Amino acid sequence: MIVEYPEYYCRFSCIADKCPDTCCQGWEIDIDETTWNKYKAVEGELGEKLKKYMKEENGCRFFKMREDGYCAFLREDNLCQLQRQFGEDYLGVICSEHPRYFVECGNYEQQDISLACPEMARIFFTEKGNIAYCFEMYEDESDEEDIDIELRDRILDDRNRIIDIMENESGTFTERFRKAGLFRKIDDKLLMEMSERMEPINEAWTKRLQHMKEWLGKNPECGQFSDKISDEWYTRLTCYLVFRYWIDSYFEKDEDEELDLTAEIMLVNYCLRLITIMYLANDEKVFESELERMVDTAYIFSREVEFDEDIVNMLKGL
Ligand code: SF4
Repeated sequence: MIVEYPEYYCRFSCIADKCPDTCCQGWEIDIDETTWNKYKAVEGELGEKLKKYMKEENGCRFFKMREDGYCAFLREDNLCQLQRQFGEDYLGVICSEHPRYFVECGNYEQQDISLACPEMARIFFTEKGNIAYCFEMYEDESDEEDIDIELRDRILDDRNRIIDIMENESGTFTERFRKAGLFRKIDDKLLMEMSERMEPINEAWTKRLQHMKEWLGKNPECGQFSDKISDEWYTRLTCYLVFRYWIDSYFEKDEDEELDLTAEIMLVNYCLRLITIMYLANDEKVFESELERMVDTAYIFSREVEFDEDIVNMLKGL
């Protein structure tokens, strides 16, 4: 197995009670089978509490959130009751992996960390220069029998070509973005309509969306990209999105179809536009620096968009 990941992956660790937010709110927390069985066997007061919040619906197992939207096991000090009582090994897959994600395609595995975590977003936007990508190889039983190796490698080559142009060619961000074949003109009205169809992760998102629409109404001529966001941040965001989503095209293609990356290209354009509007319209909060404003924008964008497959597919036009 060949594993590829950006270098910042190794620099991340959860800051737990120091986190300005928490990932233990706003969404259902899936429970994998091993953890489900382990939690079911817990007795006593904690066992009762676990049973109260463990739910099974339509074949999915998850923790139901409390009425205030938080995980019932998140303590007042922002630490996890299960982890504190039994140790990290006791957590389910989602809780121990988040915000990391993994995509496997034959003997190739892609690993990354989502910007949905404010600490990860802070690391991501603080770092300077190109994103280094690392490889590791290890023996395992995965094989390439059912894999269209040529297609997968074409997709990875195209992804690497784009990242190379974005990081190493000269010119402004917009010039490199066009040169890489990524630019598509975005219709803001359509983007806002799609944003209204997204299931809001919390009330704050609904308010924010309303504010974004008002802001766009007052600034109808603002360009697709803004010079208030540095070329470097736009470049890093583009590389993050391309690295994360290009491989999806492998799983979306029917056998007899030509490889078509239109969906992924549209997704990158919509995401960058949404981030731009969120960033520019994010004028109700006071930030100490533009870095703080970008971290706040990026992690909220990622939470709202990147963890809901329906939303991602809507932006892809699928
Ligand atoms: S959002 Fe990030 S830093 Fe905060 S609790 Fe979750 S993983 Fe830890």
